[in-house]
Amino acid sequence: MTAWPGVLAAFADRLPIGDGTPRLTLLEGGTPLIPAAALAREFPGATLYYKWEGANPTGSFKDRGMVVAVAKAAEAGAPGVVCASTGNTSASAAAYAARCGLRCVVILPEGKVAAGKLAQARMHGAVVAMIPGNFDDALRLARETSDALGLALVNSFNPYRLEGQKTAAFEIADALGGPPDILALPVGNAGNISAYWRGFVELANGGARPRLWGFQAAGAAPFVRGAPISDPETIATAIRIGRPASWDTAQRALAESGGRVAAVSDDEILFAQRRLAAEEGIFTEPASATCIAGLLRARQDGHPVTGHVVAVLTGHGLKDPAVADHTPPPVRIEATVDGVAALLAAH
Ligand SMILES: *Cc1c(COP(=O)(O)O)cnc(C)c1O
Repeated sequence: MTAWPGVLAAFADRLPIGDGTPRLTLLEGGTPLIPAAALAREFPGATLYYKWEGANPTGSFKDRGMVVAVAKAAEAGAPGVVCASTGNTSASAAAYAARCGLRCVVILPEGKVAAGKLAQARMHGAVVAMIPGNFDDALRLARETSDALGLALVNSFNPYRLEGQKTAAFEIADALGGPPDILALPVGNAGNISAYWRGFVELANGGARPRLWGFQAAGAAPFVRGAPISDPETIATAIRIGRPASWDTAQRALAESGGRVAAVSDDEILFAQRRLAAEEGIFTEPASATCIAGLLRARQDGHPVTGHVVAVLTGHGLKDPAVADHTPPPVRIEATVDGVAALLAAH
């Protein structure tokens, strides 16, 4: 068995990299495709898998694209990178910039970033700026900063990000022996859905491709509405986006795949997140659970969930431990077996 070499080495012939591109890696990619267990019973006509992207080095799929974007920034001689972020982009940018000795500036919307993600950016040595406003305001400032200071902008419309992210499609098709019938995933800036589509189209060569089912939080669902939203609100902070950067490519991908978008409520997201954790043993962040909530809702709404279905679990729950506040708190007991037994009986 040969060890997984990371995204740049594994997919060198399918990425826009050359001899001058540093072979940056934290061994991202190569993530597990886990068969569903308990939740499989909800979808009797389907074989459901989880693409577990929380297993990436910084705990989200952002690492796949960031490794390419930062390597290309280094190749181009940029002094550093800058990004706006709802959290995971900054965690990933900070880690890869640290790894290859570049400076990193992250611009975050004040008070809207999960604690774990902020800790990551700080620990990796990024310059962390908080601004009043939402993600879209942070993005505007990141663009201006990139232009003015010559830092490489590594947000999702950086073309290298999508190139790196498409590699998850290759891994899924490789594991299943072909594309799935349905790919379900959360949609925020819509870079990931665009990247998966690019990956599956490159692979298909005119053949089979999945239908893309994109899911949004009800309070941040511009694709469902068909227009941008100025004040997006949801507990799923990674998809709390009102003006998706990859609007056109995502619309095309949805149309070409015969796919669909739908919204789910924050309660449905938290319910799905808890079920994934408590019944499947997979702790995702809320945004990731959106696609499971979406599949449960699709079934209720009469959309057949059939064939090979892959749900993309985009990020790790440890990034956002505050969600545990929605579960029963620990109970103080006397330090006796009777105390434990009484507690167990009460559950
Ligand atoms: C970035 C992110 C998303 C949304 O991806 P987009 O490419 O912005 O649509 C979903 N989940 C997690 C955990 C993320 O970090």
